[in-house]
Amino acid sequence: MNKSPILAHLCCAPDALYVVGLLQAEYEVVGLFYNPNIHPEEEYRLRLAEARRVAEHLQFKLIEDIYDPETWFRLTEKFKSEPEKGRRCNICFAWRLERTARKALEAGFPLFTTIMSVSPWKNSAVLNRIGRMTARKYGLKFLEADFKKKDGFNRSVRLSRELGLYRQNYCGCLYSRRPASP
Ligand code: SF4
Repeated sequence: MNKSPILAHLCCAPDALYVVGLLQAEYEVVGLFYNPNIHPEEEYRLRLAEARRVAEHLQFKLIEDIYDPETWFRLTEKFKSEPEKGRRCNICFAWRLERTARKALEAGFPLFTTIMSVSPWKNSAVLNRIGRMTARKYGLKFLEADFKKKDGFNRSVRLSRELGLYRQNYCGCLYSRRPASP
């Protein structure tokens, strides 16, 4: 049976390992790595390299998009002091989902999604609302989900440990980096 194609925005390897595995039961998954929020560039390169490992492990195609942090900084500058889950995050989600939708349109995917809702720090209702709005704008469909359900986050932690993947200790942007312990 032919599976429906889906373009899945991937934020990091540990989350991708669990969620893409789940999606592959129903869909022909292609991953998109577009994360200009990640800072510094060294960290971005590390997360991308780990995402490549997951793509090889699960045998799916990974599209590596550009790294354009300047635009991301400009868009979020006004909200740099907001806490995580605040307005800066909404802009960050919207920017990455907008890019995913455009890529989906260009490449002929009728459906797209993001794996970000697996994180306990990400509000799935917000992600799904942004995804729906973005899909409408481009005449596409967005797969709404809350991948943290059914113990999703802990499963992603377990699986990524088994594969020896790097797991970051901050969301990604400069403003989410936790100060080093004294
Ligand atoms: S905390 Fe995470 S989601 Fe929020 S703006 Fe920073 S990188 Fe984006």
